[in-house]
Amino acid sequence: MHETRDSIKDIWGERTPYYGSWPERVDERTLEEPERWVQSACVLCSNDCGMDIGVKDGKIVGVRGRAVDRVNHGRLGPKGLHAWEANNSPDRLKYPMIKRNGKLEQASWDEAMELIVRRSREIIEKHTSNAIGFYTTGQLFIEEYYTLGVIGKAGLGTPHMDGNTRLCTATAAASLMESFGSDGQPGSYSDLDTTELVMLAGHNMSNTQTVLWTRILDRLSGPRPPVIIVIDPRKTWTAAKADVHLAPKAGTNVAVLNGLQNLLIEMGKIDPEFITQHTTGFEVLKETVKSYTPENVEKLTGIPEGDLRRAAQLIGEAKSMVSTCLQGVYQSNQATAAACQVNNIHLLRGMLGRQGCGVLQMNGQPTAQNTRETGCDGALPAFRNWDNPSHIEELARIWNVNPVIIPHWSAPTHAMQLFRYCEEGSIKMLWISATNPAVSMPDLARIREILDKRDLFLVVQDAFLTETSHRADVLLPAAIWGEKTGTFTNVDRTVHISYKAVEPPGEARSDLDIFLDYARRMEFKDKDGQPLIKWKDPEGAFEAWKVCTKGRMCDYSGMTYEKLSKGSGIQWPCNEQFPDGAERIYTDFHFNTGFEDCETFGHDLDTGAVTSPQEYKAIDPEGKAWLRAADFHSPHETPDEEYPFWLTTGRVVYHFHTRTKTGRSKELYDAAPDAFLQISETDAPRLGIKEGDWVEVTSRRGMVQMQAAVGNIEPGHLFIPFHYGYWDGDFRPRAANELTITEWDPVSKQPHFKYAAVKISKISPQQLSEDPDKKKQKGVFQSISSLIDTISGAILIGGRR
Ligand code: SF4
Repeated sequence: MHETRDSIKDIWGERTPYYGSWPERVDERTLEEPERWVQSACVLCSNDCGMDIGVKDGKIVGVRGRAVDRVNHGRLGPKGLHAWEANNSPDRLKYPMIKRNGKLEQASWDEAMELIVRRSREIIEKHTSNAIGFYTTGQLFIEEYYTLGVIGKAGLGTPHMDGNTRLCTATAAASLMESFGSDGQPGSYSDLDTTELVMLAGHNMSNTQTVLWTRILDRLSGPRPPVIIVIDPRKTWTAAKADVHLAPKAGTNVAVLNGLQNLLIEMGKIDPEFITQHTTGFEVLKETVKSYTPENVEKLTGIPEGDLRRAAQLIGEAKSMVSTCLQGVYQSNQATAAACQVNNIHLLRGMLGRQGCGVLQMNGQPTAQNTRETGCDGALPAFRNWDNPSHIEELARIWNVNPVIIPHWSAPTHAMQLFRYCEEGSIKMLWISATNPAVSMPDLARIREILDKRDLFLVVQDAFLTETSHRADVLLPAAIWGEKTGTFTNVDRTVHISYKAVEPPGEARSDLDIFLDYARRMEFKDKDGQPLIKWKDPEGAFEAWKVCTKGRMCDYSGMTYEKLSKGSGIQWPCNEQFPDGAERIYTDFHFNTGFEDCETFGHDLDTGAVTSPQEYKAIDPEGKAWLRAADFHSPHETPDEEYPFWLTTGRVVYHFHTRTKTGRSKELYDAAPDAFLQISETDAPRLGIKEGDWVEVTSRRGMVQMQAAVGNIEPGHLFIPFHYGYWDGDFRPRAANELTITEWDPVSKQPHFKYAAVKISKISPQQLSEDPDKKKQKGVFQSISSLIDTISGAILIGGRR
C-alpha cells in the first residue's frame, strides 16, 4: 500500500503557500502497485480533479492526482482517494432483474429491455409519450446525457425529463440565466490565485470541494492572502477561516445580500461606468435595497449591524473579488433571487471577465453541468431557449426531425412536478438513472409512496441496490466511472476525459449502451427514415455533441478525444477562436442577453412568472447584464410554539450524496458512520441534552432519531447531514429528508432543504424504533442480497463495520 498522506485525518494535506501560480503536489493512494495508469478525473464532487486510475490484474487498485491538471495540480481529497473502492464492492449489481410477483428476479438483458420497450409502446399508444418521464443524475457522462436527451426530446418527444441536478444546481443555472442571459460560469478557478477577496455564500467549501479549499488555504498561508467573507448559519471549518463570518437566520439570504448592496451603493463603492455601459436595472435595484439598512438587516437576519458594515467595507475596498454560492443559497428560501444578488454585487463593482474577478455559481455533482448543457434537465441542449422558435428549428435541423416533436409548448417539467405527475397518475412510466430519490428528495414518506405506486412502471439503472432501486419493476445493472469512457465538465467549464480502466462486473453495461439499446429497439427514426441516433460508441456521441454545440456559448467544437487525452482539462468555449479553450467568458462585457442569444426570457423572481417573448423584445438589453432586484420574503414554514426550531440539512466531508459510493469505502464509512443532530451550546443544556445523547426530531412530515453533537451552530437552529438512508442495515428512522418540506424556488424549482420547522426531545436508547416501512425494506434487501453475491461483503444487512 502506498499513501502520500492519511487524508481521513489530514483532509487538505500539507500547505504549499503561493500567490499567482499554484504549486503542484501529487497525492496518491494505492493498495497494490499498479501495472498501468489510466487517465481520468474524480467524480465525487463538482471539482472534477484530474486523476489517474491505477490498475492491476483487471482491478482498480488506487488513484493518483494528475500534476498537469489545471483544476487540482495533482491534489486529491479524502473522497477522491478512497471512494473508488466502491467499484470493487462485492454488492455491485451484476445482472438485470425483473419484478415478478412482487420480487426482483434475475433476467437476461433481452428480457429486461424487451419488457421496457413493450411497456413504452403500450403506454405511448394509450396515453402518448407524455406519460413517460426520465429522472437522471449529475453523475453520467456527456455522451450518455446527450444520447438520453435526444431520445427524450426527438425520439419520444416527452417534456418530462429532469435530473437530481434540480436538487443541487438548478439555481446556479437559473441565476446565471437571469443575470447574464444563459447558463455558463463567468469565472475560472485561476481567479482564486490572485484575487484579493473571496466571498463564500452558503458554501461550506472545506467540506464539499476539499481540493478547491486547499487552493484557498494555500493562498491564505502565502504572500498577499485574500480576505475571506463567509455567509453561513453554522460555524464550519470554512467559517473558521473567515475575516468576517455573517451567520444569518435560516432563509434570510436575500436580506443579507440586499443589505450589502445598499451599503456599497451608499458608500459609493460601485463602478458607475461599468453599470451604465454593461448593465440594466440599476435604478430599480437601488430603490429596492435602500430599506435594507444595517439596523433593519439585523432585525431580519440576526446579523450584528457592525458585521454587515465590516463585510461591505472589505468588499468595497477590494480591487478583485471571487464569489461562490452553493446549497446554503440554492436549497434555501428565495434561492434564485439570492444567487442573483451575488451576481449583482460583481456587476455593481465591475468585477467580472478579468483576472481575479469572477462568480462561481457552484455545482454539487461532478457532471451536473452536463445534465444542464445536454438537455437532460428539461432545458434544450447547448443552452437553447425553449421559447424561441429559431432555436427549436436549429435543433430540428441538427437532429433531422420535424420541429413539432421537440417539446417546446411550455416550460420543461421539473423534478418536483415529475414526481407529482407520477403521484396523480398522468406519468405511467418513470426511468431513473444513477440517483436515489428515496433518500435525496424532500418528504420521503411521500416519495416512497409514489415510487411504490402499482400503476407506475418503474425502471431503475444503478450500480447498487439502493433505497430506490429495490423498488424497480425492472432493475438494470450499470457500469460506473472507471468501467466506461466518456467526458464531463466541472464548475469552471473544464472538460476532462475519463477512460475505461477495467471491465464492469458481471453483465453490467454502461448507461450509454443501455440508452443506445433502447433507441435501437424502439426504432426511433429521423425525417428520412434513418436511425435517429447515429452513433454507436462514446467518441461518436461526443462528435455528435460537438455539432450540437458549435456556435453556442458552450462550444465544444474544437475539442477531440485526442486533444483531451494530451494534457489534462480544457475549458469551453473551445473552437476556432479559442483552440485551447477560454479561461474566462464575458471578457468583452457583452453578455448573452440579446433576444436571439438568451437561454431564457426571464422570470419574476418572486412568483416565477415567465416573461413572454413579446415582453422581452420590448426590453431587450442587447448584451447588457441584468441587475435583478428582489425584496426579502419569509420562508413558507417558520418555527412556532409547536415546532420551535429551524432545521437545516447538508453534507459532511467524508460522504457524497446518499453514500452509494463513499459508504462502500471502509475508511470513509468509519470516519462518518451515522447521521447526527447538531444543536447549539445554548439550546442543548436548556433541553437537558448532552453530546452523544439520543434525540428524536419531528416535523409535520416525519420523525428521525439520532445522537446529538453539541456546538458550532446558531441558537434556534439544528443541522442533520442528508447522506444517511437505510441500505447499510440501520432501519431506525434517520434520513434527514423524512423531515423536509415539499416547497421549491419559484424560478429554479430547486427544493428547499435548508429550512423546516421541527421539535426535538431527548430519548433513551430503549426508545429507538424501527419504522415499519423500513422494516419492510429490510426484508427486501435481505432477499435480494442472495442474488448479488454480497453476503461475504458484509456491507448489507446487519453488516455495519
Ligand atoms: S475535491 Fe472533489 S473532485 Fe477533487 S478529489 Fe475531492 S471529491 Fe474528488
